[in-house]
Amino acid sequence: MTYRATKIVATLGPASSDPVLLEEMIRAGVNVVRLNFSHGKAEDHIERARLVREVSERAGREVAIMADLQGPKIRVGKFAEGKVMLEPGAPFVLDASRNELGDLGGVGLDYKELPRDVKAGDTLLLNDGLIVLTVDAVRGDAVHTIVKMGGELSNNKGINKQGGGLTAPALTGKDMEDIKTAMSFQADYVAVSFPKNATDMEMARQLCTVAATEYRHKPYLIAKIERAEAIPRLAEILAASDGIMVARGDLAVEVGNAAVPALQKMMIRMARAADKLVITATQMMESMITNPVPTRAEVSDVANAVLDGTDAVMLSAETAAGKYPLETVQQMAQICEAAEAHDSMELDADFTGQTFSRIDQSIAMGALFTAYHLGAKAIVALTDSGSTALWMSRHRVRIPIYALTPKIGTQRKMALYRNVRPMLMDTSANRDEALAQAEGHLKRQGVVETGDVYAITCGEPMGAPGGTNMLKICRVG
Ligand code: PGA
Ligand code: MN
Repeated sequence: MTYRATKIVATLGPASSDPVLLEEMIRAGVNVVRLNFSHGKAEDHIERARLVREVSERAGREVAIMADLQGPKIRVGKFAEGKVMLEPGAPFVLDASRNELGDLGGVGLDYKELPRDVKAGDTLLLNDGLIVLTVDAVRGDAVHTIVKMGGELSNNKGINKQGGGLTAPALTGKDMEDIKTAMSFQADYVAVSFPKNATDMEMARQLCTVAATEYRHKPYLIAKIERAEAIPRLAEILAASDGIMVARGDLAVEVGNAAVPALQKMMIRMARAADKLVITATQMMESMITNPVPTRAEVSDVANAVLDGTDAVMLSAETAAGKYPLETVQQMAQICEAAEAHDSMELDADFTGQTFSRIDQSIAMGALFTAYHLGAKAIVALTDSGSTALWMSRHRVRIPIYALTPKIGTQRKMALYRNVRPMLMDTSANRDEALAQAEGHLKRQGVVETGDVYAITCGEPMGAPGGTNMLKICRVG
């Protein structure tokens, strides 16, 4: 059996909304599906979410849904012909009050504040920095620019200001509506674009909580780190979030390409140390949008994110709009497996100097330590909220963590956790029965067989959240 601990997030789009293809992609290794609210209407996302639930059930894989909010990203509007070709030296006007479709002379804007946030001499980067405009003058709602570096500009591409400093709040009116849509299909994760601080994340959480109440749902929140201002505030943002995304696209434009690899390593390290999740995103397999094989550099990039310890690697346009969505997932899964197989993992070094004050956390660490030194086949956690599995997954061991939960919401969230294999199991309230049930379940799934040793954690009384207080080492009889 192949072993892959690192998870794959794939963005759905026109290239991947066919049920047969989506099922193949899920079988090939997609663990989390991202719905990008920067594109499409509410109905499209509702329909895609329904499709994901249906197809993943058919494939027998539990897949999490991540709703990625557009945020205050400044985007150009739409063009009459879908796109234009900008030539260096040409004038181009970004006009917040323009209502007609764009052309070679200029285009409208979603973000109406842009003219107030920029001044003559500023550099604007479009489409992840592929197109560069220099601001010549701001007149009313119109930002007059000169094309410095040209290229093809198509509908709704993003605009960044070099060096950061846009004043927009992280949550727009559209985001608030989109949160309601996402909660109507119980999105497991909500990704917040461009948060500047913990307050932005707290506000997003509040909005989600209100919108989710009627569905008795509780999503996890991912802070997309893509603003220069967010870097010095990473610790507080992490504390207010369940995880972060290393959103290299916008981040690179704001802080400069060269700063990103070191920031990626720092962010992954900090997230794991804070018991939070981390996704590495953008351009990981970019060339596969048009080519059937990745470049050597892309292969190394994915492998290095795995070695950095990311929970997941993400695909954007590769699966949303690319020519080879299935092949991209297949190759990404292979790269993850190969990188992990050669990762040297020194568990003890991870543990040195750590102290725990919580009983449940100590049990989780005890299970990990024992399983590692015993050479156990599996670590098993009977978990309600998933936190036992989360703590275990913050350390690197090459022993799969099977997380058995009676809650479908917990099962889906855990689809993102590195090295965790979530399973649904309705455990009995009686401890001994529950342990026997768990072993039976693992045997039927082919996880363990007679003679295998595994470590299992549970709480007594059963089913109390945060109640894990028992570790048992078992040999399958
Ligand atoms: P986006 O976010 O694709 O929604 O812009 C990711 C990034 O900026 O890297
Ligand atoms: Mn972004």
